[in-house]
Amino acid sequence: MNTSSSDAVNIRTKLEEEDKQYLWHPFTQQQDWEAEPQLIIERGEGNYLFDVEGNRYLDGISSLWVNVHGHVRPEINQAIIDQLQRVAHTTFLGLSHPPGITLARRLIEMAPGQLSRVFYSDTGAAAVEIALKMAYQYWQQCDSPQPQKTRFFSLRNDYHGDTVGAMSVGGIELFFEVYHPLFFPTYKAVYNLDEIEQVIADHADELAAVVMEPLVQGAAGMIVYPAGFTRKVREIARRHNVLFIVDEVATGFGRTGRMFACEHEDIDPDLMSLGKSITGGYLPLAATLATEEIYNAFLGEIDEFRTFYHGHTYTGNPVVCAAALANLDLFEQEQTVEQLQPKIAQLTRGLERLRELPIVGDIRQCGFMVGIELMQDPATHTPFPITTKAAVQVIKEARRRGVIIRPLSDVVVLMPPLAIAEDELAFLLDVVYASIEAVGQQLL
Ligand SMILES: *Cc1c(COP(=O)(O)O)cnc(C)c1O
Repeated sequence: MNTSSSDAVNIRTKLEEEDKQYLWHPFTQQQDWEAEPQLIIERGEGNYLFDVEGNRYLDGISSLWVNVHGHVRPEINQAIIDQLQRVAHTTFLGLSHPPGITLARRLIEMAPGQLSRVFYSDTGAAAVEIALKMAYQYWQQCDSPQPQKTRFFSLRNDYHGDTVGAMSVGGIELFFEVYHPLFFPTYKAVYNLDEIEQVIADHADELAAVVMEPLVQGAAGMIVYPAGFTRKVREIARRHNVLFIVDEVATGFGRTGRMFACEHEDIDPDLMSLGKSITGGYLPLAATLATEEIYNAFLGEIDEFRTFYHGHTYTGNPVVCAAALANLDLFEQEQTVEQLQPKIAQLTRGLERLRELPIVGDIRQCGFMVGIELMQDPATHTPFPITTKAAVQVIKEARRRGVIIRPLSDVVVLMPPLAIAEDELAFLLDVVYASIEAVGQQLL
């Protein structure tokens, strides 16, 4: 071993020790984390990440569903640097700034339906909570107020983030069960349109809004709805005079094959939450978009108390907005959504091959969102025992072969950057095949 690589090993060892001494990682069983060797990422390039020892990995989940055009794109980096040289942060409470203004216009120009106003925040969970607060307050103070409309409807297994309000409208038992006593009450239903209509009709007087992930439930394990389902729920909400909040935090910015999932079914939401890929995966930004109808309900004299009382300290940070603008420019220059279409088809074809593997129970795809569900016995729909950690084992096999992916329970998720090249996508599919095959051989 030469000096520089043994130095790298020493640096890695020290960092890993400090990580395990000082950190607490998100959604991580720290007991497992501390017991096993961990990867420490130093840099990125294109669709690859490099660890501190210089090993290269394909970023198969877009750094948790955010990266669009690849890592270290000079165009986005330069936009960030240019804004940093002007100012890193000024408040959006009582002041404005050019990138925040221009980004709002650009978002509204591309947004579906009648959305006409942009409210910034910094995480998807906040963007959802803001939509909930807006919907609630709208009914308190719109032209014909209905102050009893204070409740929300959502579908089982929905995911809207990890703050208490976002968890309340979420429905993933594994994540949320322990926190249940903290939640405000909501109405929920399964994926049955008759049942959904029944619950909404029964409670329309109390319901402020329906909240929904369009087309696909991401964190639930990529549960893809039948075509037209999201639009039908939207229509049910309208029929019963309930607002419709669409959560495009995961689906927005090309992920489903259109810029927004709403475009597939011509859905016109009252409120929309955005996050994740809004900056191309570079910096934390989220936004809640509202119609003029909703916005107008908040106008009034100071003593009418119709103000929207909400704002995080870093709301609308200019550096983050500059990154988002550069992201949108790249979408236009590179025709990212058009270029994606053949890659979606390539992905579909590649996934077909996985069906022959004995532990693959189901494969679900919505554009560039993929879930491969592992089962002990697909024929009888028997899952693996949770302690088998089947998908975790697949993720480890993939890492040995130079691919970073991350599971949701026993669902292996693939969500590569939209800019992934054809040969990289083929490599990703080959590695996933080999990794699932290897784990299958160990387990069966
Ligand atoms: C990730 C996600 C969120 C939460 O976003 P954060 O930035 O993690 O708070 C909300 N809704 C959906 C659909 C998501 O996928």
